[in-house]
Amino acid sequence: MFKIALLPGDGIGVEVTNSAVQVIKSVAELFNLEFQFKECLIGGCSYDAFGTPLTDETIQCCYESDAVVLGAVGGYKWESLPQNLKPEAALLKLRKSLGLYTNIRPAKIYKPLIDSSSLKKDVLSNVDFVVLRELTSGIYFGEPRGLNTEHGFNTMIYHRDEVIRIAKQAFKIARERNNKVTSVDKANVLEVSQFWRNIVHEVHQEFKDVALNDLYVDNAAMQIVHNPKQFDVILTSNLFGDILSDIAAMITGSLGMLPSASLGDKYALYEPVHGSAPDIAGQNKANPLAAISSVGMMFSYSFKMKNVGDLIDAAIEKTLDDGYRTADIISDGGMLVSTNKMTELVINNLKDIYKK
Ligand code: NAD
Repeated sequence: MFKIALLPGDGIGVEVTNSAVQVIKSVAELFNLEFQFKECLIGGCSYDAFGTPLTDETIQCCYESDAVVLGAVGGYKWESLPQNLKPEAALLKLRKSLGLYTNIRPAKIYKPLIDSSSLKKDVLSNVDFVVLRELTSGIYFGEPRGLNTEHGFNTMIYHRDEVIRIAKQAFKIARERNNKVTSVDKANVLEVSQFWRNIVHEVHQEFKDVALNDLYVDNAAMQIVHNPKQFDVILTSNLFGDILSDIAAMITGSLGMLPSASLGDKYALYEPVHGSAPDIAGQNKANPLAAISSVGMMFSYSFKMKNVGDLIDAAIEKTLDDGYRTADIISDGGMLVSTNKMTELVINNLKDIYKK
């Protein structure tokens, strides 16, 4: 039995998490699995109920789970709160509490959506890679840091253990995919990057069956839009990953399609990349596919059931191929459907594909 902590959060987070749960329940039926869900508050709704966007109870609920499924947090109502009480503060605290040092974002195009990307079709076909971004260290956390009237400064620092653990994760993930890691740094200019590169190569000695190459970050940015097919697993630091994962996101074309996973040694959290979309919240308009696809990642990474992850992906692709679209991805000839309808269609396809 798998225990799942459900943190729907605010706005469309609630709607898309509901879709995600329905998909998990369908998988449970098909594969004879048992899931126990525990739902907790996070973000603005938690502030309203308890005066804080993240309670110890919610963190505890995550500690007791095999995986955390998060929706999104935030909304107009809470915008003027002090920084530490804002819904978004909960995300940073939660990631830290769970030790989620690796963020994974896939860059994959569903064939039926190939025209909605800003890149050319022949550049995009068969692109399928993931960006592994170090999430809890590097320049975003390094000390000393400061700002005064004469200068501003930050510290980009990586410790040996921090690079070792994410490099190991990258090589292990590559083994489940196409066996290739591209480590991205700026070793020609930054000592911290030379250190990163040295350690990645050291760790590689344990994973010699996986191909490894290095790229400077400026070249990597160019290559992602020039020839994205060359990549399988991109491994990089917090700052570079922040930028490269957004460039890679443009491959899929839409925010409503982007899933993510955040992994640590003990815990894992799955969430769509998008926010709570207060402009469409509560209207049954949100695209649930990013949340559903995040659940696919959960099966692949946390439960080691890549077959289920692939099945969920295939069901999404079939639904899009049949022409169904939520408002954010609609184009000429597409059939506009609601959040609930899209979810139902994906589940029907999931069952059909499974039976075949
Ligand atoms: P957003 O991602 O919520 O929305 C940006 C635009 O994309 C909006 O027009 C929205 O309607 C649309 N959109 C987003 N997801 C969609 C989906 N699944 N289906 C259809 N359309 C979708 O970003 P924002 O407007 O900058 O932020 C809104 C709130 O969400 C803010 O409070 C922000 O801080 C928060 N936020 C939270 C997270 C998170 O929880 N991880 C991430 C980003 C932003």
